[in-house]
Amino acid sequence: MDITTSTIRSAVDALFDTEIAFLDELVRHPSLRGRESSAQDFISSELESRGFSVDRWEVQTKDIENLPGYSPVEEPYSGALNVVGALRSRTSTGRSLVLNGHVDVVPTGPSEMWKHSPFEPTIEGDWMTGRGVGDMKAGLASSLFALEALSSLGYRPAADVFYQSVVEEECTGNGALACLQRGYRADAALISEPFSEHLVSAQVGVLWFQVHLKGRPTHVAYAGTGSNAIEAAFPLIQALHELEAQRNAPARRHRAFAEQEHALNLNIGKIVGGDWASSVPAWCSFDARMGVFPGESLEELRAEIESTLRAAAAGNPFLAGHPPEITYFGFAAEGYSFADDTRPSARAAEDALKKAHEEVAGATLDREAITATTDARFFGLYADMPALVYGPRAEAIHGFDERVDLESVRRVTQTTALFVAEWCGLEKK
Ligand code: ZN
Repeated sequence: MDITTSTIRSAVDALFDTEIAFLDELVRHPSLRGRESSAQDFISSELESRGFSVDRWEVQTKDIENLPGYSPVEEPYSGALNVVGALRSRTSTGRSLVLNGHVDVVPTGPSEMWKHSPFEPTIEGDWMTGRGVGDMKAGLASSLFALEALSSLGYRPAADVFYQSVVEEECTGNGALACLQRGYRADAALISEPFSEHLVSAQVGVLWFQVHLKGRPTHVAYAGTGSNAIEAAFPLIQALHELEAQRNAPARRHRAFAEQEHALNLNIGKIVGGDWASSVPAWCSFDARMGVFPGESLEELRAEIESTLRAAAAGNPFLAGHPPEITYFGFAAEGYSFADDTRPSARAAEDALKKAHEEVAGATLDREAITATTDARFFGLYADMPALVYGPRAEAIHGFDERVDLESVRRVTQTTALFVAEWCGLEKK
């Protein structure tokens, strides 16, 4: 390679205003679940105009439902579009790479709680605010503009690179799984999720489940003869929190999480029930999310959840005869520990990222075990590909006034460009 690291970093700087404009436009597409297509259209056209060969397809449950890592969904997909841009090498002398990011964003919550409209990004100082700006549209921008910077210098990677913009990361991961099913493989993957320029050493898994309770309706005047399905949920939720505490006990922790008191979180995310203020509610359902350590089985977790709920329900005279029904839709995600990946390719990928990070950040690369999941598990667990998770600093992801640090985005773009140059090598365009 006859270009220096500082040349590559300057090329990122020269394009940075364009990168911010790309990010701004991408955030304006409100790519909530089921509404990702305009964002994917935008990304497709940006990829095509840069010479990528673009593959766009609709995720279909029938293609993936029998694969490991699949998460069940309640209804068949419609309009769930994945986009992959391939940049093929002429020489293929280097190591190939997947640059993966998800385009789906989580709901905004009441938008009056936001300082600015969530899909009208605003910049204040070094920060850009908007739903999805950190999680993870800035990462989609940094990966694309890392390649763009190399291209502006007359180079491209000396191995195939697949730029993936996937759907469904926030609820199942089935978008990334569909990329595997479609045959996309490489020597490593880099996912630019926003973890403050740390390398994610391990991530928990996530299980979603739904609990359905029946009650016996009566007029409240005779409430004593009825059974309140909403109030019956409270002790069941309490019992699930006790299970959560047991599973977080030091003896049960994965070593990457040994110092974290509470890596596995139970969240009761949604509750609905009843029909009328003066009727004892005859039904109640709640949706929950529970974490699981790398190496723990989802099957065992399901069994523990079910026995916990059955035991708690046995204490309720009505529920004892009408036990709760438990269903599973959404995340069935195993944990993944990159740090435990002993393949030489995993350590080589980490070394290449370390070198690039140190060059740009002027500091060593910190590792972080995270209490959320990412699509890294698909590559690492089911496709024999080491998966690096490394992206910019963001705040309030999934919250109000989500924002990303633009100087961090610049550094991650530079680091990614240096990483690509090191991992893939470069060839003249
Ligand atoms: Zn994310």
